Amino acid sequence: MDHIQVAIDGPSGAGKSTVSKAIAKALGIIYVDTGALYRTVGYYAREQGIAVDNAADVVPYLPEISIEVRYENGVQCVYLNGENLGDRIRQNEISMYASAVSAVPEVRAFLLDTQKKIAAENSVIMDGRDIGTVILPDAHVKVFLTASNEARARRRYKELMEKGMPASYEEILSDMNRRDEADRTRAVAPAVPAADAVIFDNSDLDFDASVAELLCLIQKIATEKGIALS
Ligand code: C5P
Repeated sequence: MDHIQVAIDGPSGAGKSTVSKAIAKALGIIYVDTGALYRTVGYYAREQGIAVDNAADVVPYLPEISIEVRYENGVQCVYLNGENLGDRIRQNEISMYASAVSAVPEVRAFLLDTQKKIAAENSVIMDGRDIGTVILPDAHVKVFLTASNEARARRRYKELMEKGMPASYEEILSDMNRRDEADRTRAVAPAVPAADAVIFDNSDLDFDASVAELLCLIQKIATEKGIALS
């Protein structure tokens, strides 16, 4: 069987990563979180003392950044110059850095091969903002997963609380809106649905229902295209 490519794009907090992880498990393929790569570059930029508004200043540092993606017990780990950053890249401040560096064309070019290589070597469900448009334009299935701003901010709030990284709901909502607007309107690889993506809004669905419905949708699209998913 050729490698399967499922592309999941959409704004932050729509549940891309949790839902995609569950679907990866159900289909026996690997889940690739591409946001973690931008977060890692954003983390490095902050470590260098670069201001979030001057994200392009990270460009001269790119040659000294080595990013490696490894799967340990089925979990994606991102290594920055040999060090596993773990949940350090999940801080709210790093979300803003990730969004800022992701608008820099050199950063996107820097991370392109890493993403394409993983998909060339494995069957994947890959989530991000430009997977269906730029990284895997020929993906077998493309979904744009979205939800209302409030539903997304509520989920992100809960997720950060559970990770022991509390932040205020209002701050999360306003940061999320700012980040999504920047992602959507940037000149390079804007976070918009691919022309052939199916839009899936899960505002009114809980996690289990989101997974079940999305899995059905992915299987339906694959069947229509004559592709065996597992
Ligand atoms: O998905 P996550 O919230 O971890 O992504 C962090 C940031 O990385 C996003 O706000 C977006 O700016 C950027 N990103 C991107 N392209 C991707 C994945 C993430 O621009 N494929």
